[in-house]
Amino acid sequence: MFVHFKGTRGSIPTAPTAQEIEEKVIASMMAARGKELRSERQIREFVYDKLNFRTRAYWGGNTPCIHVDTGSADYLILDGGSGLRALAKEIMAKKVSGATFHIFLSHFHYDHIQGIPFFAPAYAPSNRIVFHGGHEGIEKFLRAQMREPFFPISFDTLGAEISFEEHKPGDVIEVCDSRVTLFQQNHPGLSYGYRIENQEKAMVYSTDCEHTNEAHSKNYPYLDFIRGADLLIFDAPFTLYQSIGNREHWGHSSNVMGVELAARADVKKLAIFHHDPNATDENISEFCAHTRKFLTGSRHAVRESIPGIPGAPSPRGFPHEVLFAYDGLTMEL
Ligand SMILES: [Zn+2]
Ligand SMILES: [Zn+2]
Repeated sequence: MFVHFKGTRGSIPTAPTAQEIEEKVIASMMAARGKELRSERQIREFVYDKLNFRTRAYWGGNTPCIHVDTGSADYLILDGGSGLRALAKEIMAKKVSGATFHIFLSHFHYDHIQGIPFFAPAYAPSNRIVFHGGHEGIEKFLRAQMREPFFPISFDTLGAEISFEEHKPGDVIEVCDSRVTLFQQNHPGLSYGYRIENQEKAMVYSTDCEHTNEAHSKNYPYLDFIRGADLLIFDAPFTLYQSIGNREHWGHSSNVMGVELAARADVKKLAIFHHDPNATDENISEFCAHTRKFLTGSRHAVRESIPGIPGAPSPRGFPHEVLFAYDGLTMEL
């Protein structure tokens, strides 16, 4: 199973300003002073091996969308945030036709559906789109966001064969050679998490979920939902302090809660997701460092790993690793 993160930002798409990019270029050139950087190969090695993630890259600004490649010819997609448009571009470039796209929706807040009107494969009559969700009224909600005066093209313009499947917790959905189950989550208007099992591997997509005090109870049902997963994609735009302070009841969770739940349920890899739209790259990098500090029990914040995907080993068993998802991240399970 390959997991492609197409959108990892929460609430609203964010784009870097010209000044933010200029600052990255300046920081990179400062770091390159005095180095032997003549060939492209030397420059690329320097960028990937020596520069930290926030200097050379960007955490990403598209809202939630994940493509799970299970090896099936059909597409398994989680949420339709603005990251869905990035996925659509790739699909169109490959000239995919006659495909079936299963799109599982966590809920209908804008950041999770706003990419759907820009999903080009939905306009091709040869394709089939199946929207899955736990809410009643999927069709009504998706039609509403493409209604005048909010959007110039009506839902009926979508030429693909479109259907809607409403599921209940406990249902087992068989698509893309995988088993998908859903879990109702605590969020304004409710949200649904999805567990995907394919051969020996399991991953859980759990976004927009607030874990309250109940999460500390021994028999917290969520633990069974995520238990033993190879990957847990976990909504944590907040610090612990924020999650029990002024952002309580906003419907999201903290990094500390993510690590605790993953540890208690033997989750192998934890991917922090749904980044705060107000957070700069610097903020997210610091947040990442402090999350690892908590994971490893270190007295000092653990800096971003160099090179490659930011990740940190855990000395206490589970999760083996905590990473912060970013747009463009691909992971093999
Ligand atoms: Zn959201
Ligand atoms: Zn939401």
